[in-house]
Amino acid sequence: MDLPLWSPIFSQIEKTAMLTNIIAKVEQFAKQAQTQHEHIYAKLFEASIQSAKENNYPVAAVIINENQEIISLGRNQSFYPQFASGAHAEINAVNAYEQQTKHKANTMITTLEPCLMCTSRLTLSTIEHVYYMQSDPTGGGISTMATAPADFKNLASKMTFQKIANHPKAQEIASMLYNLGEQIWQKNIADIKK
Ligand SMILES: [Zn+2]
Repeated sequence: MDLPLWSPIFSQIEKTAMLTNIIAKVEQFAKQAQTQHEHIYAKLFEASIQSAKENNYPVAAVIINENQEIISLGRNQSFYPQFASGAHAEINAVNAYEQQTKHKANTMITTLEPCLMCTSRLTLSTIEHVYYMQSDPTGGGISTMATAPADFKNLASKMTFQKIANHPKAQEIASMLYNLGEQIWQKNIADIKK
């Protein structure tokens, strides 16, 4: 007998447990934040939690200026309050940033490797440097850049994409957000595609 891919009751309990665990970790992380980057990470985690509470994939992205100040923050809002397939964290952050013409910034930090759609969008934007905390081997556009169309690959070659590898505490939380996000996403996408 094939087991069902998704068991709503079990997963709701599991989701609540995972989220409770993440919230506790993030509260501790925010309390202990000292560096400018740690304050940015705390903001990203808090925004990700907000997405998870809404039953969206917990991902957040910021665009920062040369003083390391957040000038735009986006979080995933692709399934709730209403279905919006393009409302990923990175795209929301870029859209908000592009409306603020007075700002000039080129650096994004995100909790998760941008997906194929967001990576394509970033290559078309003014963003030049993308830092992400967690790899996404099954959905990431950076891991699969080698197979991108030539024009995108060419634009991407002028950018830097870098995994944040020097902060184990932040990476641990990003990894927990990813594990929770994959669960939420599989359920949401199954509902849409059935
Ligand atoms: Zn995306």
